[in-house]
Amino acid sequence: MTRSVISAAGWALEPETGEDAQHAVYSAVCMVCGAEAPASANSPEPAEIWALKHTGLNPAHRQYKAMVESYWCVTPAADNPYRALDAQGA
Ligand SMILES: [Zn+2]
Repeated sequence: MTRSVISAAGWALEPETGEDAQHAVYSAVCMVCGAEAPASANSPEPAEIWALKHTGLNPAHRQYKAMVESYWCVTPAADNPYRALDAQGA
């Protein structure tokens, strides 16, 4: 977690952990032909399996660019007045 003071109020940056939030999106691109794995949420396994199958069908295609998108959330730190407002549901 990264913490910073901006405009005299403390904010904390942390990975998104909301119940309905995506935590990460994984994908891969073949570096030989540009074919892309379908994006998968919260697990790299579908992209990994896609790469193995792609190489199985195209034995000369063995290099991939693996991509991960992650999501952050900024929340008010303990000394930030927005923390009390958030607690009130404002
Ligand atoms: Zn390929």
